[in-house]
Amino acid sequence: MMPVVALVGRPNVGKSTLFNRLTRTRDALVANFPGLTRDRQYGQAKIGELEFIVVDTGGIDGTEEGIELKMAEQSLAAIDEADVVLFMVDGRAGLSSADEGIAAHLRRCHKRTLLVVNKTDGIDADSAVSEFYQLGLGEVYPIAATHGRGVLSLIEIALAPQLEQLAAEHEQMVAAAEADAEADADEEADDEFDFSDLDEDQIQDLLAVMDEANEEDAQQFADLPIKLAIVGRPNVGKSTLTNRILGEERVVVYDQPGTTRDSVYIPMQRDEQDYILIDTAGVRRRGRVNETVEKFSVIKTLKAIEDANVVLLIVDAREGISEQDLSLLGFVLNAGRSIVLAVNKWDGLENDAREEIKRELDRRLGFIDFARLHFISALHGSGVGNLFDSVKEAYTSATKRVNTSMLTRIMMMAQDDHQPPLVSGRRVKLKYAHAGGYNPPRIIVHGNQVKALPESYKRYLINYFRRSLQIMGTPIRVEFNEGE
Ligand code: GDP
Ligand code: GDP
Repeated sequence: MMPVVALVGRPNVGKSTLFNRLTRTRDALVANFPGLTRDRQYGQAKIGELEFIVVDTGGIDGTEEGIELKMAEQSLAAIDEADVVLFMVDGRAGLSSADEGIAAHLRRCHKRTLLVVNKTDGIDADSAVSEFYQLGLGEVYPIAATHGRGVLSLIEIALAPQLEQLAAEHEQMVAAAEADAEADADEEADDEFDFSDLDEDQIQDLLAVMDEANEEDAQQFADLPIKLAIVGRPNVGKSTLTNRILGEERVVVYDQPGTTRDSVYIPMQRDEQDYILIDTAGVRRRGRVNETVEKFSVIKTLKAIEDANVVLLIVDAREGISEQDLSLLGFVLNAGRSIVLAVNKWDGLENDAREEIKRELDRRLGFIDFARLHFISALHGSGVGNLFDSVKEAYTSATKRVNTSMLTRIMMMAQDDHQPPLVSGRRVKLKYAHAGGYNPPRIIVHGNQVKALPESYKRYLINYFRRSLQIMGTPIRVEFNEGE
């Protein structure tokens, strides 16, 4: 699960500078979540293979009276949700009483905390850090956020436990993959296969054999529960929908407070398929539907998305598509999760309003045309049952096993239908394709100059794969490799 790093400190010490440096070094899309909660900023970052969430907790104005109160209000929740806290101080301004107040609080929190002295560029770092040892938070780490100096090693230390765990998992995976590779040595030979030598019957026979093998693989997923996360901004109707899906008796059983950062995991069954509902809203007893904003947690939502197979993203028909909805959507796609969209509170709307919403959906969500869209009323139950067909379809798509021969054939068909363009006077040539993984499906395309393919042709290929393989509700990742 993605660890959470919280940046804490009085205003002006450089928190947002560090936040930006961490979140912008990421090559993929950066998801920020403006306005989901007051004053705080959330972003994704990455070190090596490890992705993590950064929270800028906003400034704590330590010069005010009642610092503890402020801490409690604004940063406590963020600290509570974090795996590690980076407590930032200003190496140029020196130690202040606000720093002492915050340090006193952090010492009581029993949360892994690193004391970071920022702005050590152009000054003597050793003397700048020395006075901060008296804060009693152990080792002091000097950095210069604007220049990035010391930042990488700081994060390596901050996330050392998680990095070690990842390395261990990686080692296990490599070992397992090597064992697999040996066992699959015969199948590997398939990669060198030239299909142009085969006639249509032979190809059909080959595909049938491969499909059989795939079926066996697929069985492995068919028996697993689908982890379904219900996410959306505060007040879109997540709890109402969860209650509706589970029925009232169940709700009482699962009416437990839970911690701020953790969702409730609820096993359930529908049409003989097992599900685990990841409930980010916190199911509540009837008549206690209040405090909707307070129970909402961005961290909880992001973690639920990471942990899910399929994400059910709820938007509010009465509010339209907001920046926050798009942020959440960006995060889902970035995490490679399957997605089903539900527009809730569809009940009681005039036709004009409905048309207007549909136009807005087209305009703002047209780019994820592979996701199924449902219009529902969680309150009255209309449309809720159908959601599960799409959820199941998305899961099946995400875990679909496809083999080299099939992918290569589909790719050749795409190439025949529509030749790749010339690049520097030479035609791009696609040679073969193979699966690189699933959940989300990854396809690796090999050929000459394929990296130079224009975006439009890459999109054409992705859509061709999507249609031919009938993959709905999940992103497809296609990578392009030069040469053999
Ligand atoms: P925040 O209020 O804690 O988020 O602080 P900011 O990130 O907005 O930074 C406050 C000021 O300190 C800005 O003018 C930054 O350019 C400056 N600053 C941040 N990091 C450094 C640094 O490493 N060195 C220097 N010299 N200035 C910095
Ligand atoms: P959450 O914060 O996402 O869990 O949202 P809630 O489930 O608490 O719902 C927020 C408010 O929207 C409540 O007053 C619900 O009664 C109302 N609501 C939820 N779903 C619907 C719906 O389908 N139609 C209408 N009209 N109201 C709804």
